[in-house]
Order: sequence, then C-alpha cells, then structure tokens
Amino acid sequence: MCHFTRTEKKIRGNKMKEVRMDCPSGHGKMVLRKTKQRMTFRGVKVIVPIEQYRCTVCGAEAGTVNQAARIQKSIADAYRKAVNLLTGDEIVEKRKRLGLTQEGLAKRMNVGIASIKRWEGGTLQSKSMDHALRIALGGRSAGDSCTGNREFSIPRIKLVLKEFESVLGKHILKKNDKMLFAAKYLWYADMVAHRETGESLTGSTYAALPYGPQLNNYKDLIQDIIEADESEAKPLSREEKRIITRIAMKFPEERMAYEAAHKEKIWKKQPKGAIIPYTDSAELTGL
Ligand SMILES: [Zn+2]
Repeated sequence: MCHFTRTEKKIRGNKMKEVRMDCPSGHGKMVLRKTKQRMTFRGVKVIVPIEQYRCTVCGAEAGTVNQAARIQKSIADAYRKAVNLLTGDEIVEKRKRLGLTQEGLAKRMNVGIASIKRWEGGTLQSKSMDHALRIALGGRSAGDSCTGNREFSIPRIKLVLKEFESVLGKHILKKNDKMLFAAKYLWYADMVAHRETGESLTGSTYAALPYGPQLNNYKDLIQDIIEADESEAKPLSREEKRIITRIAMKFPEERMAYEAAHKEKIWKKQPKGAIIPYTDSAELTGL
C-alpha cells in the first residue's frame, strides 16, 4: 500500500517533513495532493481529509507511513465526532487543562497508560470508556462508587480468581478468553464484599455489557491479569475468603454465575456500556 522510495528531510523540528515520493513505475517525482474523501466507517458516513502523493503521468497514488497514520486518526476522529465520542485531540486538550499527565489520567481512570496513549493517538475508545474519560476529565475522580472504596489492584484480581479456582477445582482464567465467566465470579465477589464489608475486593470497575457485567476495559487488562504476581496483592482476609467460597458453592458451574448475573436488575437497569455502581450492591438478588 505504501511505497518507501523517499528521502525525508526534517524542516521544522519533527512537525513538517518534506518527502520525495517517486512513482513506483518510474515516472519520477510524485506530487502532494490534499483531498477530502467520503467513506463509511463502522456503518457511519464520514468525510475525511486525505493527503497522498500522486503520479501526474500514470495516476498511481502512495502515502508515507506518517500520512497513513494521520488518515487512520482522521477517520477515527470523524467517526468519534459523528457518534459523540471524545476525539484524540479533545482528550489531550482536556487532560492538559487539568494539568494531568497521561500517567495521571490513567491512574485516575484505573486503566493502563497504554490505553491513554492509544486513545489520544486515534484508537477508538468504547462507549463505557468514553463515559469514564468524561468523568475523569470532568475534574472529578472516578470515585468510590466505581471502585468500591478500594484502590484498583491487578494482582488482587489474580489473587481472587486463584482463590475461586482453588475452591471450584478448575481453571476459570483462560488464555485468550474474554473473561466471559471469570468476570461474573469477580463481579459477584466485588459486589458482595462491598455490600457486606463496605469494600470491594479488587477495586475493579464494571460495565453493563450485553453479555452481562464485565470488567471495564477488560481487553486492556486481561494480559496483565494473566501475568500478574498475586503475591504482590494484600492477602485475602478470612471474611473475604468466606465470601468467595459462598459464591463458588452457589455457582459450581461457570454457566450458573453467568445466568445469575443476567437476572440481576442492577445490571439490567443500566444502559449498555454504563458503569454499574457499587452503591447498587445492596440490590443484588443472586446472593
Ligand atoms: Zn507513474
């Protein structure tokens, strides 16, 4: 797609680059062309500015790696505007206005810094992460109702899942899965612990997804959870272990936790993608 017959020369810092692109068919230097293109992205019609080099002889088109990246970002941003998600530039601007670094924003949202970098760079955020971004960038912290009064800890997620595995006698954390089942056990454990001890077990935030409550941003977390060292987590108290045992005994089959979660009205009442607040834990019915 991209041709690399080019000589790049830095002009002003890293911002402007003069690039010579030669036609792959040997017609010499190609000229820079700026156009706007209509396209459909994820079912939404968007208009995207395109910068490409074009051969005046044969019409061949080519872009540099930077141009290709800019086009990707433009498409994502046009789409984000159309469906009312924050654009990469909006995230950067709001973050800087609050005097937050990327790391600071990541901490405030309980996500990895890689997620912030990707969203600012043009990767689409989910509806639920957009919601979390708006809360974090609104100057408030994600707050206790999202974390259940405990600091988010990936090693503790691993510790809790390991405890479930030892009581259930089987693996629930599997490689490459979407935590479809593990997340249901985890959600019940966090919610019940919050209801009964005033504190969640892991500080995780959960979103109401179509297939039930799910660890918010799980795609960015799953690998870290698998690789986490549970010995770094604060050990489980006897009461916390009892909660996990109760849940495991109530749902000896993964499917049962899944089905019970789907009957919970605190999941049902949330719009798709919204955060399920811990303050609703008193309304749990499955346990
Ligand atoms: Zn040509």
